[in-house]
Amino acid sequence: MNKNKIKKIIIPVANVYNKIYLNSYYKKNKINHNYELLDLNMKNKNILVMSPHQDDEIIGLGGTLARLSENNNITVLFLTDGSLISYENFPKKISAIRKKESDEVSSILGTNTSTLNFTNTTLDIERKKLENSIESMLKDNKFDIIFTPSVTDCTSDHRETSFALLNVLKSNKGDYLELYFYEINNSLQAGSINCISSLNINDIMSKRKLLDIYRSQKYIDFSIICINDREKRKMFRNNCYAVEIFHKLDFENMRSIIEKEKKCKEFENMKTTTSSIRLKKNMEYNLSYREKIESIFR
Ligand SMILES: [Zn+2]
Repeated sequence: MNKNKIKKIIIPVANVYNKIYLNSYYKKNKINHNYELLDLNMKNKNILVMSPHQDDEIIGLGGTLARLSENNNITVLFLTDGSLISYENFPKKISAIRKKESDEVSSILGTNTSTLNFTNTTLDIERKKLENSIESMLKDNKFDIIFTPSVTDCTSDHRETSFALLNVLKSNKGDYLELYFYEINNSLQAGSINCISSLNINDIMSKRKLLDIYRSQKYIDFSIICINDREKRKMFRNNCYAVEIFHKLDFENMRSIIEKEKKCKEFENMKTTTSSIRLKKNMEYNLSYREKIESIFR
């Protein structure tokens, strides 16, 4: 039997256990009362989603986007073109596949997309260029709200995206807008969360459908992402089906986080929790980062 067939059998069984594990994991958290609800009924806003890779936007806030795209103008900016240095023999091919998938997602959501075409995993070495590209994007467009990955994410491209953005925004208090960190690889699960999207079952079903369009990324267990969204609601006393979680930053927060860039590098050793089979092991390992996450936002 090949690996994929074995996975197909193991994952549903592992997820029964994962649900029980996550239930007690989140219940052990202190209930967070200091949060606001993201206004899912907002209208006519110009929204930018910074998405380092084609799928981050849906992993982090697919349910939220499914709702906000009904009445707002949303642009998803992909920072990379999907190619990987390690896929030396077919970088163009994987790039074309990922573009096709993200086009399908955006046509369902009715969002606009734009791509900066950096190669995956190179955003740290391309930092200056990255900042220039973001700066000109922001000059040409007036956004009311920006969603960007958390700076305490375990993937370098995710952190680099946000630090590049913060550096562009740092000197312009007059033009400061609503800025939110979103979660991709289980980085925000701590008292730092100060905003949540309260989602219903249809939002999560839409999210799952959108995730499934990213067929080339099937090594990620999309099922566990939606289970996690549901279980995370237990960190808040909120009567909803599931949540997507954010850290909303005011101008001063944003400025003080820029000074912590070096500290954020430590998060690259955190484990990604997008595997059903290794979920518990990785979540337990990541617990040692919880205090560090809190201190970044304090
Ligand atoms: Zn990513």
